[in-house]
Amino acid sequence: MPSPLIDNHHRCIDYLRLSVTDRCNLRCVYCMPQDGMPKLSHDEIMTYEEIVRLVGLVTRMGISKIRITGGEPLVRKGVLYLCQKISEFQNVNSLSITTNGLLLADFAKGLLAAGIKRVNVSLDTLKPEKYALITRRDSFQRVWHGLETALDLGFEPVKLNVVVMKGWNDEEIEDLARLTYSYPFHVRFIEFMPFNSVDQPSRFLSSDDILRRLAKVAPLVPVEVNNGNGPARHYSFPGAVGKIGIISPISHHFCPTCNRLRVTADGKLRTCLFSHEETDLRVLLRQQDTDEDIITAIRSAINQKPEKHALESEVFRKCISRPMVAIGG
Ligand code: SAM
Repeated sequence: MPSPLIDNHHRCIDYLRLSVTDRCNLRCVYCMPQDGMPKLSHDEIMTYEEIVRLVGLVTRMGISKIRITGGEPLVRKGVLYLCQKISEFQNVNSLSITTNGLLLADFAKGLLAAGIKRVNVSLDTLKPEKYALITRRDSFQRVWHGLETALDLGFEPVKLNVVVMKGWNDEEIEDLARLTYSYPFHVRFIEFMPFNSVDQPSRFLSSDDILRRLAKVAPLVPVEVNNGNGPARHYSFPGAVGKIGIISPISHHFCPTCNRLRVTADGKLRTCLFSHEETDLRVLLRQQDTDEDIITAIRSAINQKPEKHALESEVFRKCISRPMVAIGG
């Protein structure tokens, strides 16, 4: 095993969120305009050979957890081949995927065969008509079928990511949490992050407000979870089979324990979701740089990983260069 990869602020960097496409089959109101975004060209997207080489290098450096994301990762052709290749790296001890779930029922068996057992599904509402308003696609039943298929096939954990937005879905916080009585889901409530001018600060609901609402349903018991080294705080209701997670990137930022790197579909390394600093790894991969050169470039980016993000600054908000779909959530 490689020695731990430690940054200049004593954080152990062991997690990579790898975006494999900028394309998405939904148009969530808070993430993408109705007509979509300008698409990266075929040449701009990293090839699977480039991604696999990169994964080989970062796992040599100490990365051991990888999450495949996007855009919507399941729309990229051949994604199961890529998952299989990544799972073959010995140093990868956790491989997972974040998906909107539309294609999950079709891909679930293939994902398991390719070495992925951990799945996060984004679902902000339990009401089909509200789902259609938020995502601009009438596909709630398909996502629900995907979730049931994942449970039936033994994915563990199956996490539901709920972005809480005032006036859109906040009245469903309690019902979404009550799912944990009937299903072994980890229902994770995520604070809405202001990424662009479309996003209204008035939509923001803090995790403390969310917790107050949940505590009225039943007592929230703090729990430990396996592999729980992410930013979520975990709870469960007495007698529930599932768990509840709270993720507060805005009100209680988790920068002091941030262990992650991100690589965008066009091969830009970002050491902080909210920083506009990027290192162009695709250029290095294509200009035949040696493995050692690329490792040096990654190391140098990690050395500059910000100590904390500045999302609370109004000036900074206007500077955010890419929405979540283009970074990789
Ligand atoms: N297509 C996949 C999916 O839907 O999960 C992966 C990409 S998506 C960009 C990843 C996550 O980012 C989703 O859970 C989405 O809800 C979340 N997200 C997008 N914009 C956000 C925002 N402004 N604030 C909080 N979460 C956001």
